[in-house]
Amino acid sequence: MKKEPIKVKELGASVRAGNFEEVVLGYNEESALAEASRCIQCKNPVCSTGCPVGVDIKKFIYHITQKDYKSAYFTIREKNNFPSICGRVCPAEYQCRKTCILTKKGELFASENSINIHFLERFVGDYGMKNNLQVPQSRDDKPFQSKVAIVGSGPAGLCVAGELARRGIKSVIYEALHKTGGVLRYGIPPFRMPRDILDFEINYLKNLGVEVVLNSIIGKVESLEELSNRFSAVFLGLGAGVPSFLGINGENLCNVYSANEFLTRVNLMGAYKFPKYHTPINVGKHIGVIGGGNTAIDAARVALRLQKMNGIDLDTTLYYRRTEVEMPARRLEIEHAREEGVKFKFLVQPKEFTGDDKGNLQKFECLECRLGDPDSSGRRRPVPIEGSDFESDCDVAVVAVGLNANEILTSVTPDLKLDKWGDVIVNKDTMETSIKGVYAGGDIVGGEGTVIEAMSMAKRAAKAIIEYVLNQ
Ligand code: SF4
Repeated sequence: MKKEPIKVKELGASVRAGNFEEVVLGYNEESALAEASRCIQCKNPVCSTGCPVGVDIKKFIYHITQKDYKSAYFTIREKNNFPSICGRVCPAEYQCRKTCILTKKGELFASENSINIHFLERFVGDYGMKNNLQVPQSRDDKPFQSKVAIVGSGPAGLCVAGELARRGIKSVIYEALHKTGGVLRYGIPPFRMPRDILDFEINYLKNLGVEVVLNSIIGKVESLEELSNRFSAVFLGLGAGVPSFLGINGENLCNVYSANEFLTRVNLMGAYKFPKYHTPINVGKHIGVIGGGNTAIDAARVALRLQKMNGIDLDTTLYYRRTEVEMPARRLEIEHAREEGVKFKFLVQPKEFTGDDKGNLQKFECLECRLGDPDSSGRRRPVPIEGSDFESDCDVAVVAVGLNANEILTSVTPDLKLDKWGDVIVNKDTMETSIKGVYAGGDIVGGEGTVIEAMSMAKRAAKAIIEYVLNQ
């Protein structure tokens, strides 16, 4: 008899829209066992091919069915350093769940019937945290004095630090901000990525001997050359923190934010608790968010929460130039945003922001679009329809149309080769840059911008760094 997928518990939409509590509550033991029992333990499991770090999914699910959660945890940790994080933020519907045999061939996203691998991974990761399971270190026999510098404490940097620590190699993480975690902290809101999970993972690394230096912008306080002279090797996990803009009139009006600034103010600086926290934010009665990725969805859900917490009637609209099918955002997050009250306007192209006589945003003008032929991304190109202009009230806008590589370090390091987008060029196998002994990974080298992809690069880099320092 076919077993139905086990639904995960969530906070109710109207309750969660008024706070920053975690929305998805995860599986308890009973539901994890029931979901794991749906896995048919394929002879040739194709699910792992959808995981960028190649977790042995069939095996860890089998361990769950045997209630051997410890073995399930160590199976995941062989390939994935942060199962509690990835179980929460990985776009599983495009990855492992999509390749699961229970997804019908040719589907754009994972079928509902596919195994909820991410929720099982989260269950196991949280079990490991609660029971303080430690991955054994495999130190080299010879005394080891090398030290590696890691620039950036986002997912790539943390992953490299963890891999090196497991081999007994010391590292120092240099973080530009006053808190660790990079995009996991300033970009992803607490209702998707609870801070205690992040703090746990970072403390775990510190307990393994990883040092962290905060408020330290490499490229300003110290050059890459100076850093390279002090350390055996350097890993650059700088991320992509420079926002793209639309290039339309009125984008410099007051209350037009980049998603990066908007989310950083709220997620990192506690702007939603102003004046208890010192960073304010303008909430807005009519909020427009422009974009179709996860950052746009996060910004819209944050904006909606700010309205609700401030007693303002909910009016947050997400504007996207293609249709929902082409949105790169996770399906689950789109669904959550809609349930909470975010409105969607598809097939629209921003034309202009207009303001009042004090320079504050007042209106947002767009053109309607239709879908044309596919572009280089394979998605159908939006074609603006002449004369279809329309105007909406809008007193706060958040532009979430992409990020570019940080230039602070790269612009003062001429030997570091960059591509035309300013991303660092690396050898894809070793992640070594054009400078010997300097490696890079995560958003600074381009790619899809997912946490798991950054970790995949970080693992390759860590492997190469270990070989490099051991042979010095
Ligand atoms: S492909 Fe799906 S059903 Fe098969 S082993 Fe993987 S998770 Fe289980």
